[in-house]
Amino acid sequence: MDFGAARVYAIPMRTRFRGIVLREGMLIEGPAGWGEFCPFADYDDEVSASWLATTIEAGTLGWPEPVRDRIPINCTVPAVDPERGHEIAATSGCRTAKVKVAEHPDSLGEDLARLEAVRAALGPAGAVRCDANGAWDVETAVAVIPRLDRAAGGLEYVEQPCRTVDELAAVRRKVDVRIAADESIRRAEDPMRVAVAEAADIAVIKCTPLGGVRRSLRVAEAAGLPCVVSSALETSVGLAAGLALAGALPELDFACGLGTLSLLRGDVVTDAESLRPAEGYLPVSRRPPLPDPARLDEFAPADAERVAWWRDRLDRVRPKRIGVSGSRTVGSAG
Ligand SMILES: [Mg+2]
Repeated sequence: MDFGAARVYAIPMRTRFRGIVLREGMLIEGPAGWGEFCPFADYDDEVSASWLATTIEAGTLGWPEPVRDRIPINCTVPAVDPERGHEIAATSGCRTAKVKVAEHPDSLGEDLARLEAVRAALGPAGAVRCDANGAWDVETAVAVIPRLDRAAGGLEYVEQPCRTVDELAAVRRKVDVRIAADESIRRAEDPMRVAVAEAADIAVIKCTPLGGVRRSLRVAEAAGLPCVVSSALETSVGLAAGLALAGALPELDFACGLGTLSLLRGDVVTDAESLRPAEGYLPVSRRPPLPDPARLDEFAPADAERVAWWRDRLDRVRPKRIGVSGSRTVGSAG
């Protein structure tokens, strides 16, 4: 990998997400293609090492052969009013919508109205899931989920109703709607922990934080749960790894959360290469797209200190990196 020539990007977000307004990361070229290195700024070097393993896999090894050639994608409906929620779902081209709920403590009325509107937009053949991002305690989740399920005309699943694995397990025992674990799964050992605790029916897995396509495939297999592949707010270069994972999973029963470029105000590749869903699908990637030099210039950070910060971070994380084949030993690739 040509670490010395790594390019830093800073792309404004359309709306604040995870508290950030600017998505930053690096793009690094290797013999097999470009990889993206974009751990969030608050992640430590140890955690960031898994993100770098994903970068190095893309740049040096490429990805395993896919078993399908396109991936169904869900649209995302944030905590907006019902009219706007209807419009987002109706114009997305997607057959599945993920609806944000529990944005604030008194949100139930708004959540019910939003779910009704999204169901109306998708029709009976669509799938509606909701995401509480761990906002509820067990009691609230058990009381609220059946009401949300009715308003949605049947929920596909509820994502992360509570914060902890134990709470998820308690909710899952008490409600009929399937539970998906998202925030509970961040490290390679987490899906196994969720499965053993019988805390979820579905695992939301993110290729980039888990250390690449091969590691994610092993994590999915070990967990033994149906998986939904989701993004970590990457540009098209990093999203391609998520699409390679979704393409290589032996089973894929759900639409994936890889349509997240719409959250960014731009991309590092040309419009023709940009991984924006068309009619609810994205093609499975066999290699990462090439960054466009003009876009790299356009989204180069205005602040030279940010470039120095990222270079310094890369230098710190490189010695910690884990092998792309999944071992905890230092990888030799790149
Ligand atoms: Mg989620």
